[in-house]
Amino acid sequence: MDYQEFFGSELQAVRDEGRYRVFAEIERKAGNFPQATRYVEDGTTNVTVWCSNDYLGMGQHPKVAAAMHKVIDECGAGAGGTRNISGTNHHHVLLEKELADLHGKEDALLFTSGYVSNWAALGTLAARIPDCVVLSDALNHASMIEGIRYSGAERMIFEHNSPEDLDRKLSTLDPDRPKLVAFESVYSMDGDIAPIAEILDVCEKHNAMSYIDEVHGVGLYGPRGGGVAEREGLMDRITVIEGTLGKAFGVMGGYISASKDLCDFVRTFASGFIFTTAMPPAVAAGACASIKHLKESNIERDTQKERVEKVRDALDRLGIPHLPNPSHIIPVMVGDAHKCKFISDWLMDNHGIYVQPINYPTVPRGTERLRITPSPVHSDDDVNRLITALSEIWSQCELARRDIAA
Ligand SMILES: *Cc1c(COP(=O)(O)O)cnc(C)c1O
Repeated sequence: MDYQEFFGSELQAVRDEGRYRVFAEIERKAGNFPQATRYVEDGTTNVTVWCSNDYLGMGQHPKVAAAMHKVIDECGAGAGGTRNISGTNHHHVLLEKELADLHGKEDALLFTSGYVSNWAALGTLAARIPDCVVLSDALNHASMIEGIRYSGAERMIFEHNSPEDLDRKLSTLDPDRPKLVAFESVYSMDGDIAPIAEILDVCEKHNAMSYIDEVHGVGLYGPRGGGVAEREGLMDRITVIEGTLGKAFGVMGGYISASKDLCDFVRTFASGFIFTTAMPPAVAAGACASIKHLKESNIERDTQKERVEKVRDALDRLGIPHLPNPSHIIPVMVGDAHKCKFISDWLMDNHGIYVQPINYPTVPRGTERLRITPSPVHSDDDVNRLITALSEIWSQCELARRDIAA
């Protein structure tokens, strides 16, 4: 086989479909988010980032940066080992306590990313619980799907956000069989939110464990940033709450929060926890500072909501189609991979506005979109420039507009 020729032709097929991924090379400017420097072939330009998952701008928060500087000076750069072999730093333990408290659970367990936490926790639970069957929401994140697949356990897919279909599927199973129901709170591409209480009713009816991915909820929802389940007073009914430290908390890492024994079980058996170097202590300290801050401060959450409303209202006035949803995510629908990429490039090149195109396989073909995430760091001026540019390109491309309300 000509290996290089194979790689090349596979990539060309992706290019032909208009979904070849091109990374924007940027340098975010601490203290000046959402502004960033973009590196292009012949120099640099300034861009405003409109597609960050650092939803609250915590990545530049003075408390977070100070905690990271302090712990780098005190503990050095890396953890120095896996958690088991010399790598458990005091700051990991503090962070796990902070997370258990955030979710009102007995314990928490850290991973190097949210992806790894889903893959390792779901993979371990589903593989190690004898004859376990996993019920997985049809739109679950790749990290959950991979974990479930890796476990080798039987898997049933239930209709997205449908407690009725979940109930139907669970009813077909032996009541004594172990069951694990895996779903998300906020689905990050459509921005819709799961009917958590109804799903938990069904889980309890069938004595199934519940596993919720709150990656797009933690920090953002609930009076202390515990997620959508906190807002709805449901955290104590959920078996496992999984989250990330890399999105609203602005740093990096992932975790599960659950009973002491469940966390201990995953700690003891999960390959993805055991055989990898622990996160740097400074990263743990930064995440800890961020969580602590967002437990007490609502200004970031309140300002974000206000910014999201402002952008949505402006899009509505111009008739630019976006998926209505109850979250902080604004999917502006384009519905074509080539157009989506073209608009994204045009916004960047002509207006210094950075919105990454979202194409297959992240979303289904035909639903290509620009996913806009307003945050407290976007000014009125940023919003106005975004809206003006979108309106201009919508006219230029003769893209459909919604009927504009009189
Ligand atoms: C981003 C994401 C993850 C992975 O979290 P990371 O910390 O970025 O690895 C898991 N689940 C969902 C739904 C996500 O969007």
